[in-house]
Amino acid sequence: MIRKYVFFISFMFGVMAFLLSAMPALANPKINDVRFGVYEEKTRLVFDLSEGIPFQLFMLPDPYRVVIDMPVVDWKLPPGSGTKGRGLIQGYRYGLFDKDTFRIVIDTKGPVVASKAFTLPKNKNKPPRLVIDFKTVSRQAFLDKSRKSLSRVKIDREVETVEKPPIADRAPRDKPVIVIDAGHGGVDPGAIGRKGTYEKTITLRAAKLLKSALEKTNRYKVILTRNRDIFLKLRERMNVARRAEADLFISLHADSNPNAAVRGASIYTLSETASDKEAARLARRENKADLIAGVDLSDEQPIVTSILLDLAQRETMNMSAKYASLVVGDLANHTKLLRNTHRFAGFVVLKAPDVPSVLVELGYLSNTKDEKLLKKKTHLSKLVEGIVRATNQYFRWRDGLQRS
Ligand SMILES: [Zn+2]
Repeated sequence: MIRKYVFFISFMFGVMAFLLSAMPALANPKINDVRFGVYEEKTRLVFDLSEGIPFQLFMLPDPYRVVIDMPVVDWKLPPGSGTKGRGLIQGYRYGLFDKDTFRIVIDTKGPVVASKAFTLPKNKNKPPRLVIDFKTVSRQAFLDKSRKSLSRVKIDREVETVEKPPIADRAPRDKPVIVIDAGHGGVDPGAIGRKGTYEKTITLRAAKLLKSALEKTNRYKVILTRNRDIFLKLRERMNVARRAEADLFISLHADSNPNAAVRGASIYTLSETASDKEAARLARRENKADLIAGVDLSDEQPIVTSILLDLAQRETMNMSAKYASLVVGDLANHTKLLRNTHRFAGFVVLKAPDVPSVLVELGYLSNTKDEKLLKKKTHLSKLVEGIVRATNQYFRWRDGLQRS
């Protein structure tokens, strides 16, 4: 009797396992095409769908954006779509916002609202469609509409605070923990190269290479902030490191510069004042990542302003600077570096008061030579090997300090 029962249970588990394994067959809805219609009084944007998709829409000012959230879809348009808009639309970005949400952020020319948004069912030879009409309004009307649209949708405004003991009071661990942050992702592509390379793709590739190279040494526990093409808020990236009580946080980027001649890798650490104009410009760009993904930050407090005077932060900044100088020292022998390669600025993602943090710009996507190199695995591996050597040096130095 009992045996039969056990058999029945295991049979049921077998059936469930089969059903679960069969589940991915339920494919995501698809977005197959996009079309613009430019009229005198409005611009119409039409997405061709594989099936009806529920959506939420809201608007954000400064800069003016219309944001559309929907369940996860497969984007079937060619890469690079969205960079050029028409009519009242400047362009748009798209990608995962979180694991359940696909987001499209539409940049408009001035205060432009979505005056109508609806889906149409399949009709004869036309597929299901998502239709949005855009109309120019006054700034005041835009702000009113924006407020109303925000009150209708659920936006995650949770601000996480992580309390951690200072570095010195932490229990010893057998391996240092390193958090690697692949910059940008999902709806935020980061910089876009002259040949259309996305920064978010390069940083993820480099992060995975760096993770496996560090793990190969058998000396570190390595955590990635993201391991796929998904958006993460700057503060979430930092909190991954804080939660893990990381010994080191490395944020990887590959940015762009209006001057196409600028090239080479560089490394940045946090400071109250930027060391030069370029560092300040980069920090401004990188700090905009949340804005680019259409996150409404208006009700969040300005992030960490006075903690810079905190002792823990001072110690952390010194450790970060030491690590940065070791990376620069190594990379200088193997790759092209920017002049004054170690720079300082107010990068939000580096503001964990208790985790030594650096931001590595692997190169400039705005430079054709750099863009070509950054697409090559051999080049990324060369940069990664340099970072691994510097990391080994850094922890030897740090552990020497702690022993003496
Ligand atoms: Zn970046």
